[in-house]
Amino acid sequence: MGLHDITDRIAKAEAEAGRAPGSVKLIAVSKVQPNARVEAVLETGHRVYGENRVQEAAGKWPEFRTRFDGIELHLIGPLQTNKARQALELFNAIHTLDRPKLAQTLARLAQEVGQCPPLFVQVNTGEEDQKAGVLPGQVDAFVGECRALDLPLAGLMCIPPVDEEPSLHFALLAKMAERNGLVSLSMGMSGDFERAIALGATHVRVGSAIFGERVKG
Ligand SMILES: *Cc1c(COP(=O)(O)O)cnc(C)c1O
Repeated sequence: MGLHDITDRIAKAEAEAGRAPGSVKLIAVSKVQPNARVEAVLETGHRVYGENRVQEAAGKWPEFRTRFDGIELHLIGPLQTNKARQALELFNAIHTLDRPKLAQTLARLAQEVGQCPPLFVQVNTGEEDQKAGVLPGQVDAFVGECRALDLPLAGLMCIPPVDEEPSLHFALLAKMAERNGLVSLSMGMSGDFERAIALGATHVRVGSAIFGERVKG
């Protein structure tokens, strides 16, 4: 466990899949972790992090950014429209574009603010009621809608159901991305990132395997 172990395993998975070294970006998911643990990973030189709440990220990252150069912050949790402006200003990528209302709000704010980070459309590949994301059958239409709004789409993101083989979901996501001409795939977490890399992940989101178990408040 730890950052070094994970970067080794990513390199091996890239090689086994016949993919170029460094083609997979590791997002270290720091949500809920004590600042000391995050700082320890920052000290090693790692610069790409993921947070799932805008509020929590706004509380800790501006301070880290004054002390460490080149931090790249990814939003991987649900985004409410009333936090969209703050998210545009704080994050370098948003992985959870999941509904037309949010797409419209981001498009309007992007005009006002004059910038918009790369966006990933979250897909609810398991069609789970409790999970956010566009349903697989609606992905093509939604991607078209986002493009009509001039949003900078990078790719697709998914969180497979906990009780199913994730590879089926990764393969489905890859197929939908290819069909829509999208190059980035945000998929794979601590328990399954190697399988995600085998199926084309460009961004893996790994939390507990780097930082240790999350301490529940
Ligand atoms: C928390 C979280 C992760 C990281 O999960 P781990 O199992 O700790 O690696 C990845 N993706 C999303 C969307 C998350 O919310």
